[in-house]
Amino acid sequence: MNKNKVSVVTLGCSKNTVDSERLMRQLQLNSIAMTDNPEDAQTLVINTCGFIEAAKEESINTILNAVALKNERKLNKVIVAGCLSERYKDDLIKEIPEVDFYFGTEEYEGIVKELGGELKYNLLGERFISTPSHTAYLKISEGCDHPCSFCAIPIMRGKHKSKPIEELVNEAEYLAANNTKELVIIAQDTTDYGKDLYGKKSLALLLRELSNIDNIEWIRIMYAYPSRFPTDVIEEIASNQKICNYIDIPLQHISDKVLRSMRRGISSNQTRKVLQNIRETVPDIALRTTLLVGYPNESEKEFKELYEFVKETQFDKVGTFTFSVEDNTASYILGDTVPQKIKEERKDILMEIQKEISSNKNSEFVGKKLKVLVEAVEGDFYIGRSYRDAPEVDGEVLILKKNAKLKTGEFYNVLVNDFNEYDLFGELII
Ligand code: SF4
Repeated sequence: MNKNKVSVVTLGCSKNTVDSERLMRQLQLNSIAMTDNPEDAQTLVINTCGFIEAAKEESINTILNAVALKNERKLNKVIVAGCLSERYKDDLIKEIPEVDFYFGTEEYEGIVKELGGELKYNLLGERFISTPSHTAYLKISEGCDHPCSFCAIPIMRGKHKSKPIEELVNEAEYLAANNTKELVIIAQDTTDYGKDLYGKKSLALLLRELSNIDNIEWIRIMYAYPSRFPTDVIEEIASNQKICNYIDIPLQHISDKVLRSMRRGISSNQTRKVLQNIRETVPDIALRTTLLVGYPNESEKEFKELYEFVKETQFDKVGTFTFSVEDNTASYILGDTVPQKIKEERKDILMEIQKEISSNKNSEFVGKKLKVLVEAVEGDFYIGRSYRDAPEVDGEVLILKKNAKLKTGEFYNVLVNDFNEYDLFGELII
């Protein structure tokens, strides 16, 4: 029985998931035994998140729990990596010295070496797929060049750096050969893809290349930055059957005063124009956005403007976050002027109106046929997603089982016959 199993714990966003998958594949290639049960491991690698207060707290608690297990001799080694460690390494070394090693983001070589292996550079495109195999994230670049005042990500992930198209196509082919059917395209800003390598934004070109890969049926675009939005991407969505009519475009706010202070590089009118252009070019597009409430000095009037914008725009999906003061960001000097209670109230008010909007939009699908990727079975239902639902963040399509025998990871046609705020219900079309 191998007495030195490693468990990799991933916190934070899908970009961290990809980093952990790359690391785990390297451990596999070095025949280093792994377990997905931390209690069964002798070494714990914690891939941390350092984005906002709540995420930092979760990372620190996870580290402290691991150190406690080590002190109880239930663990031999604790290795901490990722964004929190990248951002606060010196403080962490002082405050939690029991951790054996602190690594930053993307320091695979050091971790693999510490675990007795050797980095296989030529196989860095390979991944240990930790998501259900039919869907996988494809991280197309690292870092970010945008100066958003509230965001610490550039501190942890550095400047924008695209991965060459050939490497991404190889990685996607590897995923497709391992049963992946849906590629979820991620980065800090996916629309900036290629500007550093090819001298111009080249996401549309990359999408075309990826859509030539057999077995890949859905390509979904997340984290698209609104300003200087490349119109050729919208045209590619409209003309390319494999690109889902779906886009995640975090807007954060709509008030010109707040957008200026956030340094988002876009005005409210320009924002509306981008959304209008997307909807005119792809009429059945599903739009997801992320909004930030409680930004310093956000007045009741500015919040009302955001509320009216959500009502007017009728997004399909909305995620709302409350402002978190982050040291070394441009907004740090503004302090934290909006009380937490008000922030939470504003978040709830937005999510309440969005629930209504989402319910109305779902009602429009009753009687319609949808292609659904089945992912799981729960009770009387098969659980799946349509082109309108990204994994982990959006709704589901529940298919009544009846006598049907469906396979997870396969696509089926479904007739929608019911809905609620977030999900659709339907039956299989034989
Ligand atoms: S686009 Fe703005 S919010 Fe997003 S990662 Fe870059 S700096 Fe942060």
